[in-house]
Amino acid sequence: MASKKTAKPRASTVDALVRRLEAIAHQIDVPYPHWLGGQNADQGPSYCLECAQKHVAAGDAEFVDGGWQQDNDGCCHCEDCGALLDYTLTECGVEDELSYFRSARLRRKLAPETAYHLSRLLEHHREHPEVLVIVPKVQALMARAKARAKARVA
Ligand SMILES: [Zn+2]
Repeated sequence: MASKKTAKPRASTVDALVRRLEAIAHQIDVPYPHWLGGQNADQGPSYCLECAQKHVAAGDAEFVDGGWQQDNDGCCHCEDCGALLDYTLTECGVEDELSYFRSARLRRKLAPETAYHLSRLLEHHREHPEVLVIVPKVQALMARAKARAKARVA
């Protein structure tokens, strides 16, 4: 039987990678999502606080709800302004984000937002080892970012 072995990255390596992604993501502020509350309010969409308050002021809702971490079936952005909002992924969310990042061509510059999305996905590597397929891609991206930083210093 032919053995088809692919070197799986070690868990500690992936943890270190997630920490490095988190450090990049920390360059931006990622606020908790808010929702609209009260009778007749559409409680489905997530908003940044500012946009949620605008809906309350406009009379679409009675109060602003939420403001804490939430499990999501995908990444989380403000329904109105598109701002990135804090989230953790559900099982379903892991599947969705993985299929996105498997086929996504990661651009040369690792933006803090991308780093945030990648760490939200890769932090599930223990219960979802399938996410490890994108690790080489992310490592390559990080290596390029590092090389560029070095070139700037020199
Ligand atoms: Zn907003």
